[in-house]
Amino acid sequence: MTPFSSTNLADAIRTIPDYPKPGILFRDITTLLGDARAFRRAIDELVQPWAGSKIDKVAGIEARGFIVGGAVAHQLSAGFVPIRKKGKLPHQTVRMAYALEYGEDEMEMHVDAISPGERIILVDDLIATGGTAEGAVKLLRNMGAKVEAACFIVDLTDLGGAEKLRAMDVPVRTLISFEGH
Ligand code: AMP
Repeated sequence: MTPFSSTNLADAIRTIPDYPKPGILFRDITTLLGDARAFRRAIDELVQPWAGSKIDKVAGIEARGFIVGGAVAHQLSAGFVPIRKKGKLPHQTVRMAYALEYGEDEMEMHVDAISPGERIILVDDLIATGGTAEGAVKLLRNMGAKVEAACFIVDLTDLGGAEKLRAMDVPVRTLISFEGH
């Protein structure tokens, strides 16, 4: 079996034009997740800078960030914290508004999910405008977390999300860049 090059890691992602609405190129990672070697390679490459360093918890953003973040947490021997859409978590929560393309929404985390000073890595499948990840960083920092980095398999570079996070002093790691929306 030949190992993946970074070029064919990108090939493991399926692009669906005009989903969920006209003009959007939806970057579907289910094809990457379904490919054992591509999935392992993506997780190995995401965690590589933190191999051997002490990360307390990985925070994953609903829903695809749970899949990627769960695997990252396991690989780093860290705990996992779900950041969910409002109204989904059963215990007492803290909430943060975040910007969507049109309007805004709110995300939540359990109030006791993180202790002050814990070292956290934020994970999602993809960063676009960065509005979602920015909200998550604010939520985590409000709880006293040290956000060591944010990791994404895909970066839609033209939309500037990674730069937005770096401007908040969050190191950003991405594996594959696509142009356009
Ligand atoms: P944003 O807040 O603009 O950075 O959007 C990031 C969130 O929206 C992530 O949870 C992504 O899964 C999802 N998302 C945004 N644009 C796309 C796209 N073109 N393809 C797939 N998922 C996307």
